[in-house]
Amino acid sequence: MRKAFICPTKYVQGEDELLNLGYFVTTFGKKGLVIIDQEVYDIVKPKLEQTKKNFDIDLYIGIFNGECSREEIARLKKVSADESCDCTIGIGGGKTLDTAKCVAEGEALIICPTIAATDAPTSHSAVVYHEDGTFDDYFYFKQSPSVILIDTTTIAGAPVRFLVSGMGDALATYFEARNTFRANANVNAGLPCGYLTKQTAPAKSTLSAQVLAHACYRNLLEYGEQARDANARHVVTPALEAIIETNILLSGLGFESGGLSAAHAIYDGFTIYKGSKHMYHGEEVAFGTLAMLVMQGAEQSEIKEVLDFCLAVGLPVTLADIGAESITDDELLAVAEKACIPEESVHSIPFAVDPLMVKNAIIAADEIGKNYREHGRLA
Ligand SMILES: [Zn+2]
Repeated sequence: MRKAFICPTKYVQGEDELLNLGYFVTTFGKKGLVIIDQEVYDIVKPKLEQTKKNFDIDLYIGIFNGECSREEIARLKKVSADESCDCTIGIGGGKTLDTAKCVAEGEALIICPTIAATDAPTSHSAVVYHEDGTFDDYFYFKQSPSVILIDTTTIAGAPVRFLVSGMGDALATYFEARNTFRANANVNAGLPCGYLTKQTAPAKSTLSAQVLAHACYRNLLEYGEQARDANARHVVTPALEAIIETNILLSGLGFESGGLSAAHAIYDGFTIYKGSKHMYHGEEVAFGTLAMLVMQGAEQSEIKEVLDFCLAVGLPVTLADIGAESITDDELLAVAEKACIPEESVHSIPFAVDPLMVKNAIIAADEIGKNYREHGRLA
């Protein structure tokens, strides 16, 4: 059986770690192109100035225009060539980092997330949009980023909702990896560079990825609440460090090499429903996880554990929590149909899934979430 596992070459996490950025630039040459938006640049500029001096390197600041589009990627590629940059550095959130991945194309890439809101930073893929913000395509690169550099002080300074959302994304990881494994479905780690469907690049999960995905879930239960509280007061503690590593590294390796399943497909389904547009990815994925567990008839103790966790850290457990309290029956069926298109990860589950099953699971999960919040019991 063909199996695949993919990961970044190096992961470093610590307080004020951005001060060491210059060292990693020297491993590629003398000059790096920094892709960063103005808001994040204003926050980290003193550290960038300091690391330039400390390591005698040069950084060209390429201010990101806000959309990871083919046009923006081409513009920044030209900047990199014109300025003779030896490496690409992405500093910021999801779209900034994805743009850096596309500019670097798998070569000499340093990724510095300034929030821990999703598990995307470690992956060898990026989501590209049209200039108007609509979805364009997924890009896959020949390898993961060379360096993931995490400045925990900067992440502790970010609003706590980002970290909680990252925990929602990480919550799905174990259950989706478990479903992928049991269904013997394919994982993204097997995809070569360029766009190819999963059917053309089949590779299954490794045992290693399953172990990491399980550790991801255990860490959330162990440190999630404490980490949220530390972030709310903007201080770095061992619990916050544990959750930053969990949200970014364990969940990142867990999803890419362990596999996605129905929780992310349900999230994708909700992208066509306008009522929930203001929610973060991980917040909707958390509710998708609950719906997935309901759909697969998970044990009550497991559903309770997930609900307890979501309620403790402030993740959604009902349709109202994701801004979809007034969704109609037809709209819900449309969400479920979108979640069930053939290429969706909803099918990485050990039984055949259809839209009605997904729709019913969402309705039941909503009811369970409501009851559990109000009465502390599932029904
Ligand atoms: Zn995700």
